[in-house]
Amino acid sequence: MFFKSKHNCYCAFCKTPRNIYRKKNIGVMNIIASAMAAVVIMFAIWQEYDPRVMIAFVVCLAISEVFVQIRWRLAVVCRVCGFDPILYVKDSKAAAEKVKFQLDRRKEDPKYLLSKPLNLPTITPKKVDALESKGKGKLVSRSV
Ligand SMILES: [Zn+2]
Repeated sequence: MFFKSKHNCYCAFCKTPRNIYRKKNIGVMNIIASAMAAVVIMFAIWQEYDPRVMIAFVVCLAISEVFVQIRWRLAVVCRVCGFDPILYVKDSKAAAEKVKFQLDRRKEDPKYLLSKPLNLPTITPKKVDALESKGKGKLVSRSV
């Protein structure tokens, strides 16, 4: 039950199994928590019922929405290779740069020296051209 909002999946690039948050937006629990926080803030500031509690509630809601979105956005990026599927959709070159940067950092980090190598796709555009010119048809998928 505690892992309900988590979803097991694999990195699209290095195929490392990982968990990502499925939750992109706030849910009922966040709204209840925001309402409770607003009441606490209200008593802390005014010591009695005050209509400005609504403002506090809206602010709490906005903060939790931003928090949930940032958490989701950060969780989407692969911790191992740095692959960012959202950035990849928008700008594949920028995403490739990020992965390169992350892999270079990984190479320099002694922590990863003994860990098992990443299962990276090794096919290059040259190989794709060579395969396709052999008349074996187009590559349907590079992520088998
Ligand atoms: Zn990855």
